[in-house]
Amino acid sequence: MTATRQEGARQETDVVIIGAGPVGLFAVFELGMLKIKAAVVDSLEEIGGQCTALYPEKPIFDIPAHPRIAGGELIERLEEQAAPFHPTYHLKQQVTGLTRRPEGGWLVETSAGAAIACKAVVIAAGGGAFGPNKPPLEGLETYEGTGVFYMVKRRDDFRGKRIVIAGGGDSAVDWAMSLPEVAEKVYVVHRRDKFRAAPESVERMRAWEKTGKLEMVVPYQLAGLEGVNGDLDAVVVKDLDGGERRLEADVLLPFFGLAAKLGPIAEWGFPVEKNTIPVDPASCQTPMDGVFAIGDVAAYPGKLKLILQGFSDAAQAAHAIYPLVYPGEALHFEYSTTKGVTEI
Ligand code: FAD
Repeated sequence: MTATRQEGARQETDVVIIGAGPVGLFAVFELGMLKIKAAVVDSLEEIGGQCTALYPEKPIFDIPAHPRIAGGELIERLEEQAAPFHPTYHLKQQVTGLTRRPEGGWLVETSAGAAIACKAVVIAAGGGAFGPNKPPLEGLETYEGTGVFYMVKRRDDFRGKRIVIAGGGDSAVDWAMSLPEVAEKVYVVHRRDKFRAAPESVERMRAWEKTGKLEMVVPYQLAGLEGVNGDLDAVVVKDLDGGERRLEADVLLPFFGLAAKLGPIAEWGFPVEKNTIPVDPASCQTPMDGVFAIGDVAAYPGKLKLILQGFSDAAQAAHAIYPLVYPGEALHFEYSTTKGVTEI
């Protein structure tokens, strides 16, 4: 890891990229190849966007030249590819303000107090800033990060633990299929006996019941948490008639989905449609001069919400940004094989 991660800093750079998903990270590379420096802001504490937050261990099969690559590994490769250009990462903070500077360019402000002056802005915000849907449990925050987690980064962190998984969607079922391999015991709490996941996955999850490693707790809902000083001891659940059970557990994984909101971005005057911003596909520029949108958040005819297409958007935008950073200088198109990678 060569990039620095800053919080609350005041700084100036060429381009601010809003969103450290796969497309934002590749934009660092494409800009860097044109000697354009970038700062990247993300509301999550880790880079990687959906790949890290939603499917770090799932294989992706449609990244060119990678017949199979896990979401998390793709992000590691992209971070490595961007590293020679020394991006500054401002993590755990949302971009809250975008204002045009009287002297030209933009000022980007974040919820952590960073104010970054730049010549162009690239919005790579995907579906928007992520946040987990949280269950309404008293004292929940006390256990967040110690006993309550909204995503699994490394399965091994849960080795030997007693785990309660709550939810009935893909994430709940995927992890209920996988965690019994390392956990002491896994409970799956769901308010009904039907799961919104592929039938084969549900079958594989249920196969663990026979081993005693996994217990289905249905139809139940989360009702409370018990523990001391942030150490979880038990999760209390209730059935539809109010009947209560106490599940001894070290960890609660509530998988009720992530809510993504464009948030402040939607207030900046773009014609936002269905959480996307229309751009000119030739440049990925939005209707605002010097503000570009790429990846899932960018809309144009025929747009596919695929990482592959987001990478291409990043290249288009970088070339369109060049004259804003180097006015009057002609950009001679060159292959990477010709010019190599030079640190900036
Ligand atoms: P994202 O990955 O969504 O990243 C956007 C980032 O911007 C987020 O981290 C968010 O927190 C941040 N952000 C947003 N607003 C703000 C703000 N105001 N301030 C700060 N930060 C902000 N695609 C494929 O090509 N192949 C696949 O096989 C594939 N499988 C998938 C499987 C699953 C389960 C899912 C959910 C998606 C899959 N996708 C796949 C889609 C792919 O993940 C997306 O197309 C891709 O992540 C889009 O990248 P992005 O960088 O545009 O946005």
